[in-house]
Amino acid sequence: MGYVVKVSRLYDGVDSKITEDRAVAIQGGRFVWIGSSADEIPEKYRTWPVASAEEFTMIPGLIDGHVHLCNDSVPDRAMVILTDLPGAATLRALQNARATLDMGFTTVRDCAGLEVMALRDAGRAGAFTVPRIQSAGYGICGTGGHMDRDKFYNARLRDNPGVADSPDEVRRVARTLLKLGVDFIKVNATRGFGGKIRGHQEMTSDEMTAATEIAHKVGKRVASHAMGTDGIKGSLDARVDSVEHGFWLTPELADQMAAQGTFLLPTAATLYRNVTRGFYRGGMTDAELSKMHDLAASAREAMFESLSMAMDSGVKIAVGSDMGGGPFLYHGENATELEQLVEAGMTPIEALKAGTSTCADLMDLGTELGRIASGYLADFVLVRGNPDEDISLLSHRDSIAAVFMEGRSVRIDEDLARDFPTDSDEIVQ
Ligand SMILES: [Zn+2]
Repeated sequence: MGYVVKVSRLYDGVDSKITEDRAVAIQGGRFVWIGSSADEIPEKYRTWPVASAEEFTMIPGLIDGHVHLCNDSVPDRAMVILTDLPGAATLRALQNARATLDMGFTTVRDCAGLEVMALRDAGRAGAFTVPRIQSAGYGICGTGGHMDRDKFYNARLRDNPGVADSPDEVRRVARTLLKLGVDFIKVNATRGFGGKIRGHQEMTSDEMTAATEIAHKVGKRVASHAMGTDGIKGSLDARVDSVEHGFWLTPELADQMAAQGTFLLPTAATLYRNVTRGFYRGGMTDAELSKMHDLAASAREAMFESLSMAMDSGVKIAVGSDMGGGPFLYHGENATELEQLVEAGMTPIEALKAGTSTCADLMDLGTELGRIASGYLADFVLVRGNPDEDISLLSHRDSIAAVFMEGRSVRIDEDLARDFPTDSDEIVQ
Protein backbone atom coordinates (compact mmCIF):
# COMPACT_ATOMS: atom_id res chain seq x y z
CA MET A 1 0.00 0.00 0.00
CA GLY A 2 1.03 3.61 -0.58
CA TYR A 3 -0.60 6.97 0.22
CA VAL A 4 -2.21 9.89 -1.54
CA VAL A 5 -1.42 13.60 -1.03
CA LYS A 6 -3.88 16.34 -1.99
CA VAL A 7 -2.51 19.84 -2.57
CA SER A 8 -3.93 23.18 -3.69
CA ARG A 9 -1.12 23.84 -6.15
CA LEU A 10 1.53 21.72 -7.84
CA TYR A 11 4.59 22.55 -9.90
CA ASP A 12 5.86 19.44 -11.67
CA GLY A 13 9.42 20.66 -12.42
CA VAL A 14 8.90 20.90 -16.18
CA ASP A 15 5.67 22.70 -17.01
CA SER A 16 5.54 26.45 -17.60
CA LYS A 17 2.91 26.93 -14.92
CA ILE A 18 1.59 25.79 -11.57
CA THR A 19 -1.57 23.65 -11.70
CA GLU A 20 -4.33 23.77 -9.10
CA ASP A 21 -6.12 21.15 -7.00
CA ARG A 22 -3.92 18.16 -7.63
CA ALA A 23 -3.47 14.78 -6.00
CA VAL A 24 -0.51 12.45 -6.18
CA ALA A 25 -0.18 8.81 -5.20
CA ILE A 26 3.12 7.57 -3.78
CA GLN A 27 4.27 4.01 -3.35
CA GLY A 28 7.66 2.39 -2.83
CA GLY A 29 9.35 5.80 -2.62
CA ARG A 30 8.09 6.85 -6.07
CA PHE A 31 5.23 8.82 -7.54
CA VAL A 32 2.86 6.32 -9.13
CA TRP A 33 -0.03 8.56 -10.15
CA ILE A 34 -0.67 12.29 -10.55
CA GLY A 35 -4.12 13.67 -11.26
CA SER A 36 -6.75 16.20 -10.48
CA SER A 37 -7.96 15.91 -6.92
CA ALA A 38 -11.48 16.62 -8.13
CA ASP A 39 -11.29 13.54 -10.32
CA GLU A 40 -12.04 10.15 -8.97
CA ILE A 41 -8.88 8.65 -7.59
CA PRO A 42 -8.27 5.42 -9.54
CA GLU A 43 -9.77 2.31 -7.98
CA LYS A 44 -6.45 0.80 -6.95
CA TYR A 45 -5.49 3.83 -4.79
CA ARG A 46 -8.91 4.38 -3.24
CA THR A 47 -8.18 2.41 -0.08
CA TRP A 48 -4.91 4.26 0.56
CA PRO A 49 -4.69 6.88 3.32
CA VAL A 50 -5.09 10.45 2.09
CA ALA A 51 -2.96 13.30 3.44
CA SER A 52 -4.63 16.60 2.91
CA ALA A 53 -2.09 19.38 2.37
CA GLU A 54 -4.52 21.91 1.04
CA GLU A 55 -3.28 25.51 1.07
CA PHE A 56 0.19 24.20 0.16
CA THR A 57 2.17 24.12 -3.07
CA MET A 58 3.95 20.87 -3.88
CA ILE A 59 7.20 21.27 -5.79
CA PRO A 60 9.89 18.67 -6.58
CA GLY A 61 12.73 18.37 -4.05
CA LEU A 62 15.03 21.28 -4.89
CA ILE A 63 18.47 20.62 -6.39
CA ASP A 64 21.57 22.79 -6.01
CA GLY A 65 24.16 22.14 -8.71
CA HIS A 66 27.08 23.93 -7.05
CA VAL A 67 27.90 23.78 -3.34
CA HIS A 68 30.96 23.21 -1.14
CA LEU A 69 29.59 21.39 1.89
CA CYS A 70 32.97 21.02 3.59
CA ASN A 71 33.43 24.78 3.85
CA ASP A 72 31.75 27.02 6.36
CA SER A 73 31.31 30.63 5.43
CA VAL A 74 34.37 31.66 7.42
CA PRO A 75 36.48 34.56 6.24
CA ASP A 76 39.93 33.07 6.73
CA ARG A 77 39.92 29.72 4.94
CA ALA A 78 43.72 29.38 4.97
CA MET A 79 43.63 29.15 8.78
CA VAL A 80 41.04 26.35 8.58
CA ILE A 81 43.21 24.38 6.14
CA LEU A 82 46.18 24.69 8.46
CA THR A 83 44.40 23.75 11.68
CA ASP A 84 41.74 21.21 10.64
CA LEU A 85 41.83 17.89 12.48
CA PRO A 86 41.18 14.73 10.42
CA GLY A 87 37.42 14.32 10.05
CA ALA A 88 36.60 17.95 10.84
CA ALA A 89 35.68 18.80 7.26
CA THR A 90 33.35 15.79 6.98
CA LEU A 91 31.60 16.79 10.21
CA ARG A 92 31.19 20.34 8.92
CA ALA A 93 29.75 18.86 5.74
CA LEU A 94 27.23 16.86 7.80
CA GLN A 95 26.02 19.96 9.58
CA ASN A 96 25.88 21.97 6.34
CA ALA A 97 24.11 19.15 4.50
CA ARG A 98 21.40 19.10 7.19
CA ALA A 99 20.90 22.86 6.95
CA THR A 100 20.56 22.45 3.18
CA LEU A 101 18.05 19.60 3.42
CA ASP A 102 15.99 21.52 5.99
CA MET A 103 15.35 24.18 3.35
CA GLY A 104 14.04 21.70 0.78
CA PHE A 105 17.21 20.86 -1.17
CA THR A 106 17.18 17.07 -1.40
CA THR A 107 20.05 16.74 -3.89
CA VAL A 108 23.31 18.68 -4.26
CA ARG A 109 26.39 18.61 -6.48
CA ASP A 110 29.52 19.30 -4.47
CA CYS A 111 32.08 21.11 -6.61
CA ALA A 112 35.26 20.39 -4.60
CA GLY A 113 35.81 19.07 -1.12
CA LEU A 114 37.26 15.54 -0.99
CA GLU A 115 36.07 14.98 2.56
CA VAL A 116 32.42 15.12 1.51
CA MET A 117 32.73 11.73 -0.16
CA ALA A 118 32.52 9.84 3.14
CA LEU A 119 29.29 11.70 3.93
CA ARG A 120 27.93 11.01 0.43
CA ASP A 121 28.45 7.30 1.01
CA ALA A 122 27.08 7.35 4.55
CA GLY A 123 23.99 9.14 3.22
CA ARG A 124 23.55 6.56 0.46
CA ALA A 125 23.87 3.78 3.04
CA GLY A 126 21.16 5.43 5.16
CA ALA A 127 23.44 6.13 8.14
CA PHE A 128 22.61 9.87 8.04
CA THR A 129 19.65 11.82 6.70
CA VAL A 130 21.33 14.18 4.25
CA PRO A 131 20.64 15.26 0.69
CA ARG A 132 21.83 13.03 -2.14
CA ILE A 133 25.35 14.18 -2.93
CA GLN A 134 27.42 14.05 -6.09
CA SER A 135 31.07 14.88 -5.46
CA ALA A 136 33.95 16.09 -7.62
CA GLY A 137 36.49 15.15 -4.94
CA TYR A 138 39.01 17.92 -5.42
CA GLY A 139 39.15 20.45 -8.24
CA ILE A 140 41.88 20.28 -10.90
CA CYS A 141 43.99 23.39 -11.56
CA GLY A 142 47.52 24.45 -12.48
CA THR A 143 50.19 25.34 -9.90
CA GLY A 144 49.08 28.56 -8.22
CA GLY A 145 45.74 28.29 -10.02
CA HIS A 146 42.25 29.04 -8.73
CA MET A 147 42.20 26.14 -6.25
CA ASP A 148 45.90 26.37 -5.35
CA ARG A 149 46.18 29.86 -4.00
CA ASP A 150 47.20 29.35 -0.38
CA LYS A 151 50.62 30.85 0.19
CA PHE A 152 51.96 29.18 3.29
CA TYR A 153 55.44 30.69 3.00
CA ASN A 154 56.40 29.75 6.52
CA ALA A 155 54.84 26.33 6.63
CA ARG A 156 55.56 23.19 4.66
CA LEU A 157 53.89 23.66 1.28
CA ARG A 158 50.58 21.86 1.45
CA ASP A 159 50.46 19.01 -0.99
CA ASN A 160 47.58 19.80 -3.34
CA PRO A 161 46.58 16.61 -5.17
CA GLY A 162 44.46 18.57 -7.67
CA VAL A 163 47.43 20.38 -9.21
CA ALA A 164 48.25 19.40 -12.79
CA ASP A 165 50.48 21.37 -15.18
CA SER A 166 50.16 19.51 -18.48
CA PRO A 167 47.61 17.37 -20.32
CA ASP A 168 49.43 14.24 -19.10
CA GLU A 169 49.29 15.41 -15.50
CA VAL A 170 45.59 16.20 -15.91
CA ARG A 171 45.04 12.65 -17.15
CA ARG A 172 46.80 11.26 -14.08
CA VAL A 173 44.83 13.45 -11.66
CA ALA A 174 41.52 12.75 -13.40
CA ARG A 175 42.18 9.01 -13.34
CA THR A 176 43.13 9.21 -9.66
CA LEU A 177 39.87 11.01 -8.90
CA LEU A 178 37.86 8.42 -10.82
CA LYS A 179 39.68 5.69 -8.90
CA LEU A 180 38.60 7.40 -5.66
CA GLY A 181 35.00 7.23 -6.89
CA VAL A 182 34.07 10.80 -7.79
CA ASP A 183 30.79 11.42 -9.59
CA PHE A 184 32.16 14.07 -11.95
CA ILE A 185 35.35 16.01 -12.64
CA LYS A 186 35.83 19.70 -11.83
CA VAL A 187 38.39 21.77 -13.70
CA ASN A 188 39.31 25.38 -12.98
CA ALA A 189 39.63 27.16 -16.32
CA THR A 190 40.05 30.61 -14.80
CA ARG A 191 40.92 32.63 -11.72
CA GLY A 192 38.12 34.23 -9.75
CA PHE A 193 38.09 37.99 -9.66
CA GLY A 194 39.97 40.60 -7.68
CA GLY A 195 42.31 43.53 -8.27
CA LYS A 196 42.56 43.91 -12.02
CA ILE A 197 41.62 40.28 -12.53
CA ARG A 198 38.38 39.45 -14.26
CA GLY A 199 38.59 35.70 -14.27
CA HIS A 200 41.53 35.30 -16.65
CA GLN A 201 42.27 31.88 -18.14
CA GLU A 202 44.62 29.57 -16.25
CA MET A 203 44.16 26.01 -17.52
CA THR A 204 44.75 25.59 -21.25
CA SER A 205 42.14 24.12 -23.52
CA ASP A 206 44.50 21.15 -24.14
CA GLU A 207 44.64 20.45 -20.41
CA MET A 208 40.87 20.59 -20.11
CA THR A 209 40.46 18.41 -23.19
CA ALA A 210 42.57 15.78 -21.40
CA ALA A 211 40.04 15.89 -18.54
CA THR A 212 36.97 15.59 -20.75
CA GLU A 213 38.55 12.72 -22.73
CA ILE A 214 39.20 10.68 -19.60
CA ALA A 215 35.86 11.50 -17.93
CA HIS A 216 33.65 11.02 -20.97
CA LYS A 217 35.17 7.61 -21.71
CA VAL A 218 33.68 6.34 -18.44
CA GLY A 219 30.41 8.25 -18.73
CA LYS A 220 31.28 11.01 -16.24
CA ARG A 221 30.81 14.72 -16.77
CA VAL A 222 33.15 17.67 -16.47
CA ALA A 223 32.26 20.96 -14.78
CA SER A 224 34.41 23.99 -15.48
CA HIS A 225 34.88 26.98 -13.18
CA ALA A 226 35.09 29.64 -15.90
CA MET A 227 34.46 33.34 -15.28
CA GLY A 228 36.29 35.28 -18.01
CA THR A 229 35.55 35.08 -21.73
CA ASP A 230 38.78 33.30 -22.79
CA GLY A 231 38.41 30.61 -20.16
CA ILE A 232 34.79 30.01 -21.13
CA LYS A 233 35.86 29.65 -24.77
CA GLY A 234 38.71 27.28 -23.82
CA SER A 235 36.30 25.20 -21.72
CA LEU A 236 33.74 24.96 -24.51
CA ASP A 237 36.40 23.96 -27.05
CA ALA A 238 37.39 21.23 -24.58
CA ARG A 239 33.74 20.05 -24.59
CA VAL A 240 33.07 20.49 -20.88
CA ASP A 241 29.50 19.70 -19.83
CA SER A 242 28.86 22.76 -17.67
CA VAL A 243 30.20 26.25 -17.22
CA GLU A 244 30.16 27.36 -13.58
CA HIS A 245 29.83 31.15 -13.08
CA GLY A 246 30.26 32.16 -16.77
CA PHE A 247 30.09 35.86 -15.84
CA TRP A 248 31.64 37.28 -19.02
CA LEU A 249 29.80 35.45 -21.82
CA THR A 250 29.42 36.71 -25.40
CA PRO A 251 26.48 36.01 -27.74
CA GLU A 252 28.79 33.72 -29.81
CA LEU A 253 29.76 31.73 -26.73
CA ALA A 254 26.12 31.48 -25.68
CA ASP A 255 25.31 30.06 -29.12
CA GLN A 256 28.21 27.60 -28.81
CA MET A 257 26.90 26.49 -25.40
CA ALA A 258 23.41 25.96 -26.78
CA ALA A 259 24.75 24.01 -29.78
CA GLN A 260 26.93 21.78 -27.59
CA GLY A 261 24.25 21.33 -24.90
CA THR A 262 26.48 22.87 -22.21
CA PHE A 263 24.75 23.87 -18.96
CA LEU A 264 25.27 27.31 -17.40
CA LEU A 265 25.23 27.84 -13.62
CA PRO A 266 25.36 31.62 -13.14
CA THR A 267 25.98 31.40 -9.34
CA ALA A 268 24.18 34.72 -9.02
CA ALA A 269 23.99 34.35 -5.23
CA THR A 270 27.75 34.81 -4.86
CA LEU A 271 27.71 38.23 -6.51
CA TYR A 272 24.63 39.23 -4.56
CA ARG A 273 26.57 38.32 -1.42
CA ASN A 274 29.61 40.36 -2.50
CA VAL A 275 27.51 43.38 -3.34
CA THR A 276 25.24 43.34 -0.28
CA ARG A 277 27.38 41.72 2.42
CA GLY A 278 30.85 42.71 1.29
CA PHE A 279 34.20 40.94 1.43
CA TYR A 280 36.47 39.54 4.09
CA ARG A 281 38.63 42.51 4.91
CA GLY A 282 41.89 40.64 5.57
CA GLY A 283 44.71 43.11 5.05
CA MET A 284 42.79 45.27 2.59
CA THR A 285 42.72 49.05 2.91
CA ASP A 286 39.45 50.99 2.56
CA ALA A 287 40.40 51.90 -1.01
CA GLU A 288 41.14 48.26 -1.93
CA LEU A 289 37.91 47.15 -0.33
CA SER A 290 35.87 49.66 -2.27
CA LYS A 291 37.62 48.57 -5.50
CA MET A 292 36.59 44.98 -4.79
CA HIS A 293 33.05 46.16 -4.22
CA ASP A 294 33.02 47.99 -7.57
CA LEU A 295 34.46 44.95 -9.32
CA ALA A 296 31.76 42.71 -7.83
CA ALA A 297 29.09 45.17 -8.94
CA SER A 298 30.45 45.17 -12.51
CA ALA A 299 30.74 41.35 -12.50
CA ARG A 300 27.11 41.22 -11.39
CA GLU A 301 26.09 43.50 -14.23
CA ALA A 302 28.04 41.31 -16.69
CA MET A 303 26.38 38.20 -15.25
CA PHE A 304 22.90 39.70 -15.70
CA GLU A 305 23.76 40.36 -19.36
CA SER A 306 25.29 36.90 -19.80
CA LEU A 307 22.17 35.29 -18.37
CA SER A 308 19.96 37.11 -20.85
CA MET A 309 22.29 36.12 -23.74
CA ALA A 310 22.15 32.53 -22.55
CA MET A 311 18.35 32.62 -22.30
CA ASP A 312 18.10 34.13 -25.79
CA SER A 313 20.31 31.38 -27.21
CA GLY A 314 18.38 28.61 -25.42
CA VAL A 315 21.19 27.53 -23.08
CA LYS A 316 20.14 25.14 -20.30
CA ILE A 317 20.40 27.11 -17.05
CA ALA A 318 20.76 25.34 -13.71
CA VAL A 319 20.75 26.49 -10.09
CA GLY A 320 24.14 26.61 -8.40
CA SER A 321 24.39 28.77 -5.28
CA ASP A 322 28.11 28.20 -4.55
CA MET A 323 27.32 27.93 -0.83
CA GLY A 324 30.61 27.52 1.04
CA GLY A 325 32.48 29.09 -1.87
CA GLY A 326 33.19 32.22 0.15
CA PRO A 327 32.27 34.06 3.32
CA PHE A 328 28.97 35.73 4.21
CA LEU A 329 26.55 33.29 2.59
CA TYR A 330 25.45 30.38 4.70
CA HIS A 331 24.44 26.79 3.90
CA GLY A 332 20.65 26.71 3.98
CA GLU A 333 20.48 30.01 2.10
CA ASN A 334 20.66 28.10 -1.21
CA ALA A 335 17.33 29.52 -2.47
CA THR A 336 19.03 32.91 -2.66
CA GLU A 337 20.13 31.65 -6.08
CA LEU A 338 16.52 31.26 -7.29
CA GLU A 339 15.70 34.73 -5.96
CA GLN A 340 18.70 36.19 -7.76
CA LEU A 341 17.90 34.41 -11.03
CA VAL A 342 14.50 36.09 -10.85
CA GLU A 343 16.16 39.41 -10.05
CA ALA A 344 18.34 38.86 -13.15
CA GLY A 345 15.35 38.33 -15.44
CA MET A 346 13.96 34.81 -15.12
CA THR A 347 10.34 34.18 -14.15
CA PRO A 348 9.80 32.36 -10.84
CA ILE A 349 8.73 29.27 -12.78
CA GLU A 350 11.90 29.38 -14.91
CA ALA A 351 13.97 29.62 -11.72
CA LEU A 352 12.07 26.68 -10.22
CA LYS A 353 12.73 24.65 -13.35
CA ALA A 354 16.45 25.58 -13.13
CA GLY A 355 16.44 24.28 -9.55
CA THR A 356 14.59 21.04 -10.27
CA SER A 357 14.42 19.25 -13.66
CA THR A 358 17.28 21.15 -15.35
CA CYS A 359 19.56 20.56 -12.40
CA ALA A 360 18.63 16.87 -12.40
CA ASP A 361 19.52 16.77 -16.11
CA LEU A 362 22.84 18.49 -15.34
CA MET A 363 23.64 15.72 -12.86
CA ASP A 364 22.55 12.98 -15.28
CA LEU A 365 19.67 12.16 -12.91
CA GLY A 366 16.95 13.45 -15.22
CA THR A 367 15.15 10.11 -15.50
CA GLU A 368 14.90 9.73 -11.70
CA LEU A 369 14.66 13.16 -10.08
CA GLY A 370 13.59 16.78 -10.45
CA ARG A 371 10.08 16.06 -11.66
CA ILE A 372 6.75 15.16 -10.13
CA ALA A 373 5.80 12.49 -12.64
CA SER A 374 4.81 8.86 -12.52
CA GLY A 375 7.86 6.64 -11.94
CA TYR A 376 10.07 9.42 -10.50
CA LEU A 377 11.52 9.28 -6.97
CA ALA A 378 9.09 11.00 -4.60
CA ASP A 379 11.30 13.89 -3.45
CA PHE A 380 9.07 16.89 -2.81
CA VAL A 381 8.61 20.02 -0.74
CA LEU A 382 5.36 21.45 0.59
CA VAL A 383 5.51 25.23 0.48
CA ARG A 384 3.16 27.44 2.49
CA GLY A 385 1.94 29.90 -0.17
CA ASN A 386 2.64 30.20 -3.88
CA PRO A 387 6.31 30.50 -4.97
CA ASP A 388 5.16 31.60 -8.44
CA GLU A 389 3.85 34.77 -6.79
CA ASP A 390 6.77 35.16 -4.40
CA ILE A 391 9.96 33.16 -5.04
CA SER A 392 11.46 34.43 -1.77
CA LEU A 393 9.09 32.08 0.10
CA LEU A 394 11.71 29.39 -0.59
CA SER A 395 14.23 31.32 1.50
CA HIS A 396 12.01 31.36 4.60
CA ARG A 397 12.09 28.49 7.04
CA ASP A 398 8.42 29.13 7.95
CA SER A 399 7.30 28.63 4.35
CA ILE A 400 9.08 25.31 3.90
CA ALA A 401 6.46 23.26 5.73
CA ALA A 402 7.69 19.77 4.82
CA VAL A 403 10.53 18.08 2.97
CA PHE A 404 10.23 14.53 1.64
CA MET A 405 12.84 12.21 0.18
CA GLU A 406 11.68 9.08 -1.61
CA GLY A 407 8.25 9.31 -0.01
CA ARG A 408 9.48 9.74 3.57
CA SER A 409 9.34 13.00 5.46
CA VAL A 410 12.78 14.22 6.51
CA ARG A 411 11.30 17.33 8.13
CA ILE A 412 7.63 18.19 8.61
CA ASP A 413 5.78 20.88 10.55
CA GLU A 414 3.71 19.53 13.39
CA ASP A 415 0.32 20.65 12.05
CA LEU A 416 0.96 18.82 8.80
CA ALA A 417 2.55 15.70 10.29
CA ARG A 418 -0.81 14.51 11.69
CA ASP A 419 -2.13 14.02 8.17
CA PHE A 420 0.69 11.91 6.86
CA PRO A 421 1.04 8.17 7.38
CA THR A 422 3.78 7.14 9.74
CA ASP A 423 3.43 3.41 9.22
CA SER A 424 6.47 2.54 7.17
CA ASP A 425 4.49 -0.14 5.33
CA GLU A 426 2.46 2.56 3.61
CA ILE A 427 5.58 4.46 2.66
CA VAL A 428 7.87 1.71 1.57
CA GLN A 429 5.91 -1.28 0.30
ZN1 LIG B 1 32.42 26.99 -6.18
